[in-house]
Amino acid sequence: MSDAPPPAAPQVPGWRHVASGKVRDLYVPDAPPAGSLAVEPADAVVLLVASDRISAYDYVLPTPIPDKGAILTALSVWWFEQLADVVPNHLVSLDVPGAVAGRAMICRRLDMYPVECVARGYLAGSGLAEYRETGAVCGVELPPGLVEGSKLPRPIFTPATKADLGEHDENVTFEKAAAEVGEDVATRLRDLTLELYTRASQIAAGRGIILADTKFEFGRRPGTDEIVLGDEVLTPDSSRYWPAETWQPGRPQPSFDKQYVRDWLASPASGWDRTGGALPPELPADVVEKTRARYVEAYERLTGRAF
Ligand code: ATP
Ligand code: MG
Repeated sequence: MSDAPPPAAPQVPGWRHVASGKVRDLYVPDAPPAGSLAVEPADAVVLLVASDRISAYDYVLPTPIPDKGAILTALSVWWFEQLADVVPNHLVSLDVPGAVAGRAMICRRLDMYPVECVARGYLAGSGLAEYRETGAVCGVELPPGLVEGSKLPRPIFTPATKADLGEHDENVTFEKAAAEVGEDVATRLRDLTLELYTRASQIAAGRGIILADTKFEFGRRPGTDEIVLGDEVLTPDSSRYWPAETWQPGRPQPSFDKQYVRDWLASPASGWDRTGGALPPELPADVVEKTRARYVEAYERLTGRAF
């Protein structure tokens, strides 16, 4: 879809860049640890660096949001702490080279499951679109009469399969996910996802924030069948957070993420037609500043800490 050149990843001493997504850059140690075998050692690590890149409508925008990578990293780390008693996570250390300090985590390297584990407590985004067409989301039947932003009778697990860079992830049924990873693993991923979602939404609710939905990625510790929570968790990039005080079903909800960016891109002011195939334009300074402030506000409200 997007044919922009791949974003440049920073040089990090001691680490070798191996992959980049829309927002994050992944590194492995420069030299294999002394005495390492041909097989992956169980304690192998990766460096996950969150850039200040922002994506919207499946494009990486040409204008970064200052501090976004640091805010999202700090929020992920905070959530890992809150959820550590539900499931082990991949975080090993925040002691990273200066070039990426504050926006990178050294993590246990996992064999990632090829399933995006999404939990939804409210109807929005692709869940809303599917419900309008079929009355169900990922094969989960829902009652009639729900509208945009409705609270669901109970949280549901709506897995998706990971798409290549620039493509949409595809919602799938539980059975399709089970065909990918096995019935037993799929069941454990579903139960963990719903437990994490429930716990996180209670914490967010205590801060006046609705966690409408979120996506987790899990992996397996190499050589074992221990399931570990990986990737980023519960950031505004992986989650829909709504201020509770303005929640009102039946319309799009104000949210703690790229809303200003999306609204501006969709407005005549941007001069951009997102269906036209052209790359998105640079963001004006006030859109950058408002977006940054929104990410900071999400961090501060959730954690109760100043950024
Ligand atoms: P995008 O988010 O742009 O759709 P993406 O999810 O592939 O693409 P990023 O989120 O930018 O890319 O990069 C993170 C990548 O690192 C993902 O592919 C994720 O599955 C992988 N990853 C996360 N944690 C680990 C881990 N502990 N070990 C190995 N890979 C990991
Ligand atoms: Mg990702």
